[in-house]
Amino acid sequence: MEIQNLAPHVQEVARALGDKLSEEEIAEELRKYVDVYRLSIPMAKKTIVKKYGGDAESFSVGFQRKLAELRPNEPNVDFVAKVLSSNDKEITAKGEKKRIIYGFVGDDSTTLPYTAWETEGLTLAKGEVISVKGAYTKEYQGRVQVNFGNRVTIRKEDPETIKDIQVADGPPKVVTIADLREGMGYVQVKGRVLSVEAREVTVKGEPKKIFSGVVADETGKVQFTAWSDFKVKKDDILKISKATVKGWRGIPQLNFDERAEVIKVKEKFPTAEELQKVTVSMISDISARGGATDATVRGAIIEVRDGSGLIMRCPDCRRALQKGMCKVHGRMDGVPDLRIKAIVDDGSGAVSAVVGRELTEGLMGCTLDECMERAKKSMNLDVVKDSFEEKLLLKVVTLTGNVTADEYGLSMIVNGAGTGLDDVRAEVERLLVQLEESR
Ligand SMILES: [Zn+2]
Repeated sequence: MEIQNLAPHVQEVARALGDKLSEEEIAEELRKYVDVYRLSIPMAKKTIVKKYGGDAESFSVGFQRKLAELRPNEPNVDFVAKVLSSNDKEITAKGEKKRIIYGFVGDDSTTLPYTAWETEGLTLAKGEVISVKGAYTKEYQGRVQVNFGNRVTIRKEDPETIKDIQVADGPPKVVTIADLREGMGYVQVKGRVLSVEAREVTVKGEPKKIFSGVVADETGKVQFTAWSDFKVKKDDILKISKATVKGWRGIPQLNFDERAEVIKVKEKFPTAEELQKVTVSMISDISARGGATDATVRGAIIEVRDGSGLIMRCPDCRRALQKGMCKVHGRMDGVPDLRIKAIVDDGSGAVSAVVGRELTEGLMGCTLDECMERAKKSMNLDVVKDSFEEKLLLKVVTLTGNVTADEYGLSMIVNGAGTGLDDVRAEVERLLVQLEESR
């Protein structure tokens, strides 16, 4: 991604940071986060503001964005866009007739459908450029929809601000699965379907059949949802054009509906087995993508966190008990469980990993019952955590799972773990070499 016009973004960050950073430094940081770490522009700006001690929360609300950067269910969005179409319709809401306006708006990043629900005194004509403050977004069939409610202000701008919109008919970006980023507009990817299943969902009160699964190429895997029946079958090699990418807690997901072209291709392509094969990702790459589906990382355990070892869970809700108390159900007789919560660092970044009972037993070579015995003998649950720590700290592990991103960083719910714990020094050296080579 290239930042076409940096200045307005730099100025917004500068306003949020006061004089903590010069505009040159802000520009440099922005380029780094967008070009190197591949964050979206709003995420990059927010990250910089947070990093340098500005008020990232207030900053995240109501700054001007590209349409492709809008997410579903945002309560307050500002943008400048060209009206591509404008239609009137009379509807009956709460027993009263009212006029709405709907159509499409576009900028140089994408086009989106809009609906104006409060239309008194409002006119929108094709070709007008409007600056919108205080709109909100919803989602329909995996696509963001913009809504103008009673808090919106709409100003007419010089129509020349946005020239011709080409995105809608322009060719989709041809990308690999590892390149998929939230909000990148129309994309074209090719991949093999590793799994697919039909689901019944309710869309606007109507039952609808959708199809979701995992599609993969040599660079990675991604979850997809097809909102029309393209007769997708497991093992098909698909060329999907005009798909969109949205994020679920930062993990890119592929969406396509009846506007997409889905072609089954017959050509040489890695087999499902080859695609399932584990490739180890750098944590910095996962971080740049904002999360990953079914990723594998290899790194050293640099911290074994509280809540590891033998824990007691609430029999009703499975929450871990704190001093015999469940947050919801109060005092409970706990059900014992084992887990590891650890920070894993591969030299490029860190991920917080949670390992459930079965994998923990495998890694530690100790069953839940045996751990219970030990705890009973010493009359102390903590001996188990202590023994875990002793065995795990600074050891190298290979972990597989879905990685999500939030403001605290990356978290992995581990669904696969290497059985061995390797000596750390050789691994660290290997990782350093790998980092050096990838520069
Ligand atoms: Zn409970």
